[in-house]
Amino acid sequence: MKKNIFIGGAWPYANYSLHIGHLAALLPGDIIARYYRGKGDNVVYVSGTDSHGTPITVNAQKTGITPKEIATHYHDEFSKTFESLNFSYDLYTSTMSSYHKQQVQEYFEKMLKNGFLYKKIEQQDFCNNCGKFISDREIIGTCPHCKGKSNGEQCDECLVALNAEDVLDKHCKNCNTPTVLKDNKHLYLKLSVFQKELEKLIKDTEGLWRKEATGEARKFLSMGLIDRAATRQLDWGIDVPVKGFEDKKIYVWIEAVLGYLTTGKAVSEQKGINFDEYMKDSPQTLTYYVHGKDNIPFHAIIFPALIKAIGLEYQLPKYIISSSYVNSNDEKMSKSKGNLTTINELVKRYNVDTLRYYLIANGPEKKDVNFSENDLALNHNKYLVGTLGNFIHRNLSFIFKRFNGIITEAEIDKDIIKETKRTYEEAGALIEKGELKSAISLVMDYISLGNKYYDTQQPWKLATENIEEFNKCVYTCVYMTANIANLIYPFIPATSKKIKQMLRLSNFKWEEEMIKGNINIDEPKILFERINIKVI
Ligand SMILES: [Zn+2]
Ligand SMILES: [Zn+2]
Repeated sequence: MKKNIFIGGAWPYANYSLHIGHLAALLPGDIIARYYRGKGDNVVYVSGTDSHGTPITVNAQKTGITPKEIATHYHDEFSKTFESLNFSYDLYTSTMSSYHKQQVQEYFEKMLKNGFLYKKIEQQDFCNNCGKFISDREIIGTCPHCKGKSNGEQCDECLVALNAEDVLDKHCKNCNTPTVLKDNKHLYLKLSVFQKELEKLIKDTEGLWRKEATGEARKFLSMGLIDRAATRQLDWGIDVPVKGFEDKKIYVWIEAVLGYLTTGKAVSEQKGINFDEYMKDSPQTLTYYVHGKDNIPFHAIIFPALIKAIGLEYQLPKYIISSSYVNSNDEKMSKSKGNLTTINELVKRYNVDTLRYYLIANGPEKKDVNFSENDLALNHNKYLVGTLGNFIHRNLSFIFKRFNGIITEAEIDKDIIKETKRTYEEAGALIEKGELKSAISLVMDYISLGNKYYDTQQPWKLATENIEEFNKCVYTCVYMTANIANLIYPFIPATSKKIKQMLRLSNFKWEEEMIKGNINIDEPKILFERINIKVI
């Protein structure tokens, strides 16, 4: 029976170019999606750009353009970046899309109707001159700790995080008028009522979620969940569809994470799938959420609570694939340090499959990892050139030169067939669990086995001494090559396609590829060029 696979890749925030940490955190989603498609299961794989919230409005103010222009700029850039990396999203959209907005508003209304949103009066800074409540970032004032200049969220000088009520001498950023406190009404989500249910979820998913996700979620729950504001005083975002709240927006922490559902629904409509059925909790349905560890609370706590509050009978996150961080030359990467390596820079310099391979094989699956271009080049030379490229090229180019590219059908080595089947099974099981580092390492072992087999058989000698044994060896290696093309496809799809073209094989499937008859090949092309480490 076909499985229903739902994969949600985290929504990057439209405030800065994507960097290598994003890529490392999001790649697992693409690999899992490609794998299940290759098995013939149903797959819905979605993501998009998180386009609302205060950092964008602040950035807009600084640069003198509108929040929409900023968000659109980064959304276009992100879409191109993901395309260049061969991400296979069924839909990559933006929280600015009218479909998303309309669906989120419907979900919001349902939460209200189900009694999970309630009104609460809060005192908030108001500017009499502008005639409106102002957000924390629009406040300018004095830091209570260092007496330096600060906004309502953070001190510009000592960089400490602040609560707006503690900031001294508050003024409106737009007109410099002192602010006054005034009652403001907001809607709050009753997050606290989901404590028990979420505790159960953490227990039930033990071993399925990455350890860090389970640990983070537990930490959160041990502090006791508290209700959170669901609306925000802001100009940029999705309107609150409730009377009396027309001047407010839905808080991004609710709205962006619901993008999984709005986008999933949009894809399902295109594919003629009933999304409510697709997402029902059954052994046939498997949901994956893929992101960096700073995003864990939104996926492990907030998202399942929202599903419940809306009243949806959907599977709560089955697999949470959260990654640790990628450091750069042993330092934490950050915009302020200026050591962020953006993906676009890397794509200009390296083969996309080199990046994909490196960030899986050395990915931050269980702990932070260090990124250096030197290490990337070493891995590229050792595995992609030395192991993979070498195995495929030595066999095919020998046949091309000595036998005009004609590979004669022969018996395939039985032990190799056994190893092939085992690799599909074991690597597949690892991919399903999100253990991609181990999965790709098994695939690499299989390719190394090919090199070992070739060395032991010494076909360059057999070619003159024993043509029958020669044909067996070469045909076995071609059989392995065909299967390597399948096994590497989820990880490095562009290389897989090149190999398939060389052997004139049909599309990828995650199952043993049996080759038949004589095979004609054209002159084989080099898959990977060695990177000169001195140049880096
Ligand atoms: Zn003002
Ligand atoms: Zn300060």
